[in-house]
Amino acid sequence: MDKRDYYEVLGVSREATKEEIKKAYRKQALKYHPDKNPGDKKAEEHFKEAASAYEVLSNDEKRARYDRFGHEGVSGASGNGFGGAGMTMEDIFASFGDIFGDAFGGFGGFGSSRRSSRRVNKGSNLRVKVKLTLGEIANGCEKKIKVAKYVVCSTCDGTGAADQNSITSCTTCRGSGHVTRITNTMLGQMQTTSVCPSCGGNGKTITKKCPVCYGEGIVQKDDIIKINIPAGVSKGMQMTVSGKGNAARRGGINGDLLVVIDEEDHPELIREGKDLIYNLFISIPDAALGTHVEIPTVENIVKIKIEPGTQPGKILRLRGKGLPEVNGYGRGDLLVNVNVWIPKNLTKEEARTLEKLRDSASFIPRPDKEDKGFFERMRGYFE
Ligand SMILES: [Zn+2]
Ligand SMILES: [Zn+2]
Repeated sequence: MDKRDYYEVLGVSREATKEEIKKAYRKQALKYHPDKNPGDKKAEEHFKEAASAYEVLSNDEKRARYDRFGHEGVSGASGNGFGGAGMTMEDIFASFGDIFGDAFGGFGGFGSSRRSSRRVNKGSNLRVKVKLTLGEIANGCEKKIKVAKYVVCSTCDGTGAADQNSITSCTTCRGSGHVTRITNTMLGQMQTTSVCPSCGGNGKTITKKCPVCYGEGIVQKDDIIKINIPAGVSKGMQMTVSGKGNAARRGGINGDLLVVIDEEDHPELIREGKDLIYNLFISIPDAALGTHVEIPTVENIVKIKIEPGTQPGKILRLRGKGLPEVNGYGRGDLLVNVNVWIPKNLTKEEARTLEKLRDSASFIPRPDKEDKGFFERMRGYFE
């Protein structure tokens, strides 16, 4: 997917001032805020896109780089650089929560509480492990995962109330969702604001609870989630699928689904980063006389030539037959590590044949500096 121009995303000119950029971002962020567009994937994408644009354009240094080099100049500037959109909802609220001001959950112009201005209730994150074969890693894949999670209760629409009449303003916080405490400290009076313990921050009290979710606004349900996994991922990597985690109690935004990548061992190929290693065993006659062998790759089988006089430890590099790099260009190689099989039990006749060869001039070991086998093997180890 091609990234849209950041100025275009925010609808500002290239000469826009910082204030104009901030204003434009606020407008976009409020328009596409997940609270206003629950479950709307498109809005979520817009919301994230605007955040990415704002992250770059609000920072002088990043903006200058972007102006000069475009998206290339600021790639990796946001989020984990993995999984497409870059910033997660969590990142966005953590970084730019201030921008929402009093639009959501309102502190009523409470200036000193800007730090805690992220008042949108968020569901918890879910973590799942996905085991992939080398083939799936090589090509990327779509996985359907069944997760047991909390979803919004459809009976009460997430409010937790039996009906509209049983929702009243919270008496503890008088509907504001927060409580302010003044404490005397060594440094003078300190004002602390925290989430109202009675209503959990949404400013409402329920007099009659929804009979399905018992007032929680969420119910447990199995959900099948489709995840697109890009090619080249590796064990331990984590992808964030925004908004696919648990729903929040009594309204709010969903948590995220964290997908942890695991790898299934391949029966023949060993992964080493983006390269693959195959341990090939050939016979003494094949090493001496040369032959053709079949090598398994992730996709199919390729035939390669073994030159006469191939030494054990020689590494044959099949370019581009490895794995693609995640979020990048290029592909690793398949390294064929040539081993020569020395028989352990010989028949009398085999032994006799070898006896004859033992003293034959060509069979006397002559390691040769010109022979690249050793050096290639070392390179293979250290790359
Ligand atoms: Zn309910
Ligand atoms: Zn309250």
